[in-house]
Amino acid sequence: MAADILIIGAGGVGSVVAHKCAEASLKGAFGKITLASRTLSRCDSIAASIRSKYNVSIETAKVDADNVPELCALIRKVKPFLVLNIALPYQDLHIMDACLECGVHYLDTANYEPLDTARFEYKWQWAYQDRFRDKGLTALLGSGFDPGVTNVFAAWVMKHELDEVHVLDIIDCNAGDHGLPFATNFNPEINIREVSAKGRYWERGEWVQTAPLSWSMDYTFPQGIGTKKCYLMYHEELESLALNLKGLKRARFWMTFSDNYLKHLSVLKNVGMTGIAPVKYKGQEIVPIQFLAHLLPDPSSLGARTHGYTCIGNVMRGMKDGAEKSVYIYNVCCHEECYKEVGSQAISYTTGVPAMVGAKMICDKTWLKPGVWNMEQQDPDPFLKDLAAYGLPWTCVDVTDQESL
Ligand code: NDP
Repeated sequence: MAADILIIGAGGVGSVVAHKCAEASLKGAFGKITLASRTLSRCDSIAASIRSKYNVSIETAKVDADNVPELCALIRKVKPFLVLNIALPYQDLHIMDACLECGVHYLDTANYEPLDTARFEYKWQWAYQDRFRDKGLTALLGSGFDPGVTNVFAAWVMKHELDEVHVLDIIDCNAGDHGLPFATNFNPEINIREVSAKGRYWERGEWVQTAPLSWSMDYTFPQGIGTKKCYLMYHEELESLALNLKGLKRARFWMTFSDNYLKHLSVLKNVGMTGIAPVKYKGQEIVPIQFLAHLLPDPSSLGARTHGYTCIGNVMRGMKDGAEKSVYIYNVCCHEECYKEVGSQAISYTTGVPAMVGAKMICDKTWLKPGVWNMEQQDPDPFLKDLAAYGLPWTCVDVTDQESL
């Protein structure tokens, strides 16, 4: 019998996850689907869209995932096989606690970050390893695109294309345009915390820190996207990949930003609007970045106005059969096509599809393995087969010395 699932979070990504799980349930991948969030009306409108697109009825519920007893009560009522955490990184540990208490499997798309420190690290979630293993439960961390597919791409290259890897560059290009002066394509608070943080990359066994967005390079993307400026950033998958890809000498992460986005971000930072510490305003405590996020467009509203492509992938250099070899493995995704299919832009889509595929891997027991795992620690083949089948086809090509980084 197909496994029942509980999805928590009904934002831009949660909507895609719910749509794609409903689509996959028509092929027997999942049983009953429940979508829960703090705002019930958002869950209900996603449920209505799913009914009209796929003729599938899903259940909805209201829950505050930071309240573990409330969450446990919902889990005990729904009795899912797996909880998909598509809320925010702040909820990760609370949802993992509830899964342990109720004996259900866990999946998320972003690693834990404390509210008062803009620093994400896996140490808090890796500390759950023994508790999940001892209870026979699986926790799959970072099943989005980056982290997520980029980790699986790395595992696939190591399985099929390289004997050793020396250099890894993950490059995330959003060449889409929403026509607004400034908007973020996923949760504004998380996005701005991530982008304004110091850069960090792995070289010869050590982390090297750089000033925020101080290093850049030009990279030419395929399928007519062309050459874009990419900025070095720290990104969470570097932490697990540096540990799990043996022999790696350097690992970096790059993201494209338009000059316009950077100009707005710089002004907002200079005037203190990206601060995460509370400030007193007329007797009230306000966190500047939370107020800013409140003013910015909701990422789930950008779908209808975004056009163009995303291209996310890994350039990997190493050795094969005693000779040097470099490959580029990537997906190109079209914002308009995503909107036509599920009513969302490509950033939510490229995160939501891998979350659904990760859930499918756990529910059909392909990736069911007690403990806490990053994506590169699983067999990449079945995941990448389903990823292509459910809307994110990918390509791996050899690259020349000039194209490799
Ligand atoms: P949104 O802000 O659009 O949605 C977040 C959702 O979580 C909202 O529905 C919100 O509910 C809900 N939520 C927040 N707090 C709670 C809580 N305490 N209890 C229950 N529900 C809660 O964010 P996105 O959809 O853009 O992003 C979702 C996640 O995906 C984030 O963690 C983000 O970092 C991650 N992500 C991962 C990527 C990857 O490639 N790995 C890429 C992009 C995003 P309400 O509306 O009621 O506040």
